Amino acid sequence: MLMEKERLEVVEYGKLMSSSGLSKGTSGNISIYNPKTGYMAISPSGIGYFETQPEDVVIMDLDGNIIDGTKKPSSEHDLHSIFYKEKPDARAVVHTHSTYCTTFACLNQPLKAVHYVIGGAGVATVPCAEYATFGSPELAHNVITACSKGKAVLLANHGLVTCGPSLKKAFGLAVNMEFVAEMQWRGMAVGKPVVLEDKEMDHVMECFKSYGQPAKKSEENKDGNSY
Ligand code: 13P
Ligand code: ZN
Repeated sequence: MLMEKERLEVVEYGKLMSSSGLSKGTSGNISIYNPKTGYMAISPSGIGYFETQPEDVVIMDLDGNIIDGTKKPSSEHDLHSIFYKEKPDARAVVHTHSTYCTTFACLNQPLKAVHYVIGGAGVATVPCAEYATFGSPELAHNVITACSKGKAVLLANHGLVTCGPSLKKAFGLAVNMEFVAEMQWRGMAVGKPVVLEDKEMDHVMECFKSYGQPAKKSEENKDGNSY
């Protein structure tokens, strides 16, 4: 099976996304990119994450052509491929409708540095991209434009997208962005959350580079950031 390892990983993380509560029903989607072939393995459209089989995962090139698979690919394949086209280090993309991130997306408000882990996104503020219909090339364009140099972005009235050097990292970032969004929401429910200054966030992002265990040469976290 073409890209078997990537297909298995998409299935595994789909289940994780569902069981961890980041995705309800068939919302959200996941992909992994292989720069050597120029193909991505992307979750199929509208199939429950616990029903999805490795062969249901669709292999596509970045021009929207199906290379392998019998199922219809995620309606957000343009959104995924634009990250791989525009961000040379991106190897995985995760899209969720997780509750707290989507709350701020519905308010068309960014996530702010109310908690230092936002620095995992490589920016002090996670912006909210302008609204466009789900699955449209216009949405892909709006999202990558808003994302700029960061690794996470909210989609107005829709949800969250993250990218990373591996699916593990992109997924972990989605988990952390949901945590920041929950803290922002909880803080706003009882008062005015204190937002860390840009200077401190620059320092945090520098500290992230040596956070955790030193990376072995063969390991994936070449951005050195365990968040
Ligand atoms: P798919 O099931 O087509 O991936 O769509 C889910 C979604 O979240 C659309 O934005
Ligand atoms: Zn969606």
